Amino acid sequence: MKNSCPICHSDSYKNHLEHGEVNYIRCKVCDMVYLKDMPSNETLARFYSKDFFNSQTDDFIKNSTQIRKERLASIEALIPGKGRLLDIGCGQGYFLKEAKDKGWDAYGLDISDYAARHSKKVAGVDIFLGHIHDARYEDSFFDVVTLWDVLEHTKDHIKILNEVRRVLKKGGIVVASTPNAGSMDAICHKYKWPYFDFEKCGHILQFTPKTLKRSFKKCEFHIENISTRGSLDIRYVPSLWGVNLSNQFILHLLDGLSGFLAKFTVPLKFGNIIILYATKR
Ligand SMILES: [Zn+2]
Repeated sequence: MKNSCPICHSDSYKNHLEHGEVNYIRCKVCDMVYLKDMPSNETLARFYSKDFFNSQTDDFIKNSTQIRKERLASIEALIPGKGRLLDIGCGQGYFLKEAKDKGWDAYGLDISDYAARHSKKVAGVDIFLGHIHDARYEDSFFDVVTLWDVLEHTKDHIKILNEVRRVLKKGGIVVASTPNAGSMDAICHKYKWPYFDFEKCGHILQFTPKTLKRSFKKCEFHIENISTRGSLDIRYVPSLWGVNLSNQFILHLLDGLSGFLAKFTVPLKFGNIIILYATKR
């Protein structure tokens, strides 16, 4: 069965990227990129097992500590006081723990049984196992809703954003991050861009700053800020071509060059990750 565009529902599309079993198509009307063949709910539930979360390396977890602190600080800079915060797709629960430790009344939600149990252990808060529509939170219940690297894993992000709008207080903030399919990395590396690897990442939807903004506007959010981060990361380019680089000097050089390129790619919204802040007015 053919899918229609998750934003504008048009059936008109062109191929965006085809490699092996994976076929991403792009809506001719609004440019949204999505999987031509959507996985079933059963496939998705199986996907987010312990193995999915444990595939993240120790380095990733370590580096993410700083990212989690920065993310929370960026929210606290926008909102006075600390109220109720909902982390949708809370994964292993580390952001929830950060928020709870800083005095937020933290709530978590995940469709993965493993993630929900792990989060509860890490953050010590109750986690709702399932989709946001099934959680039946009260209207205008939350001050903040976060969607860290979540929307790309969903089949109907508009339905989720509409529900987020309902449960968010007036003046409340929603924050979303997602890989940038319009980044220099994605453009240059094409199917070798890691986030196009459906089997590994499970990304059903692929956003650019333009389509992410369009999605939030469709759900009547007011966009406060949208930016990208992460340069054209050339450190892993040799490995993409089968060359295993162990020379620390060359890796250091590539790292420096990546940082230099960020000066150009990030201001132009060509960075690897998009971060959007929006409010309900
Ligand atoms: Zn469309």
